[in-house]
Amino acid sequence: MRLGLLLAVVLVAVGIRIMGGLGSGGQAGSYVHDSFVMGTVLNIKVRGASRELAATAAEAVVEEARRLHVVFDPHDEDGTISLLNRTAAEGGGMVVVGRDVARVLAAAIAVRDSSSRGFDPALGALIDIWGFSDEKAAREIPDTLQLARLTAELATAGLIGLSEDSSTVVVPPGAGLLDVGGIAKGYAVDRAIEILDSLGINNALINLGGEIGVLGVGSNGRNWRVGVQHPRMAASHLGVVSQTEGMYVATSGDYERFFILEGRRYHHILDPATGFPSMDEAVMSTTVVAGSCLMADAMATAAFVLGPDEGIRFLESQGAQGLIVYARNGNRENGEITYKTTSGFQSIMQPDLGGRPIY
Ligand code: ADP
Ligand code: MG
Repeated sequence: MRLGLLLAVVLVAVGIRIMGGLGSGGQAGSYVHDSFVMGTVLNIKVRGASRELAATAAEAVVEEARRLHVVFDPHDEDGTISLLNRTAAEGGGMVVVGRDVARVLAAAIAVRDSSSRGFDPALGALIDIWGFSDEKAAREIPDTLQLARLTAELATAGLIGLSEDSSTVVVPPGAGLLDVGGIAKGYAVDRAIEILDSLGINNALINLGGEIGVLGVGSNGRNWRVGVQHPRMAASHLGVVSQTEGMYVATSGDYERFFILEGRRYHHILDPATGFPSMDEAVMSTTVVAGSCLMADAMATAAFVLGPDEGIRFLESQGAQGLIVYARNGNRENGEITYKTTSGFQSIMQPDLGGRPIY
């Protein structure tokens, strides 16, 4: 979500809004809750549950997302990622981790390896020097010598690993600093769906900054309908996905966090091989549909870096469906927009580059 738009959304998101015909005695209806968490907007919709249950469930989801933010924030000393990064700096070691970090790192390592390090959770030092870890920073290109040094270090640093049962992270000395921003939101969506399900919610939608999971059905008993953001038209969709339970949708874009300098857009998805925002193929956004949101999220970031050809091949090889939107002539500001999809994606959604208004 574009930051300007994000602010506007946050301003109108007045805590809890209740929509639809809610009966007075807390009867089944439609319940919507918006909040700002993990650096983005968390939108929760619950249908067909009592108001009390929906409110309790939404509260539990927000609480969980706030807890996960601490666990995964590399700059929060109370979190586990920060602990792993201190361990790397202090000569490495073995760190016993909880279930959340185990699940996220297992997926991150799998996608790191299957994408030839297009996705690399150890690029924290590069994200920091670009200033993309801070919502308001990032206005200039970092010192190029330092960038080159950090990129070379990342290429040769020891890789973190996990014990067979995933309970322990093996941190080699001098391992690259972890930044799981490219997968943590997806995991939070998976957790949110698990929580809603365990609380007896049958119909719900979770949208955390463009990573989306659902339970059951939406209004009138029809499948949830989810718009995929157009990368250059803030108020438009590329199309609508009819999203069913067990199907997760993640979108990564160069419009989320970026600055423009001398006509070039510098965005927050970095190519670990160059240390620069992934530029060559002018990818503007990637949308991935997969069986879990953490995998969809990590693969969307990986496919973005790999570019239209390699990215689609990668998604096909992982059995995921996806869409890569990019500029045909490599000019991500004014170039002609086009796209590529995996073979099964167009039966999920047919992209309309002219944009469709948000209903
Ligand atoms: P979005 O915020 O658009 O959903 P992503 O899911 O791709 O996008 O997340 C972007 C974040 O992922 C960055 O802010 C950074 O924390 C992290 N990141 C950036 N580039 C990479 C990469 N090549 N591999 C892994 N993580 C990345
Ligand atoms: Mg991602």
